[in-house]
Amino acid sequence: MDILAHSIWSALVAKSINLNKKKKLSLLKTALWGIFPDLFSFTLLFIVLFIGTLFGTTPVPDHNNIEPAMRNGSISIITEVLYEFSHSLIIFAIILLVLYVSTGKVIWEMLGWGLHIIIDIFTHSYKFYPTPFLWPFSEFRYDGISWSQSWFQIINYSAMIIVFGIIWWCEKKKKR
Ligand SMILES: [Zn+2]
Repeated sequence: MDILAHSIWSALVAKSINLNKKKKLSLLKTALWGIFPDLFSFTLLFIVLFIGTLFGTTPVPDHNNIEPAMRNGSISIITEVLYEFSHSLIIFAIILLVLYVSTGKVIWEMLGWGLHIIIDIFTHSYKFYPTPFLWPFSEFRYDGISWSQSWFQIINYSAMIIVFGIIWWCEKKKKR
């Protein structure tokens, strides 16, 4: 799914958890964790593509042709590894556990990261970065619905507005 949608869904989930929680989750931190997997995977690639574009060594990726441009060169191998690392539920669980053992508390905002992976499993098809959620134990990836189709985007963003409305209504009802 796109990065904006990931941040909004993460914040909405945190907001809905906060309805019944005394110690509130930070919406901003949850949203940042929600986009962390993509920032981790693609920042390096975009810097390289950007510099390449400036110096005219990378073809400018157009909307329909983004993947071949992204898959050019050795940088794509590094990106693939970073993508596998940040889009694995196994890695996510291990890091969550390590942080819990070392600090004695669960960083609940990190649920944004887990949510990102779960959403990506179903919203990426084999054509564009299917989600390696069982990496490094298995290369299995689910062939989901591609999030970039316009009908999907319309439903997705409409659903966010509806969910926001429901949470807002619940908050108002609680305050009464
Ligand atoms: Zn992602």
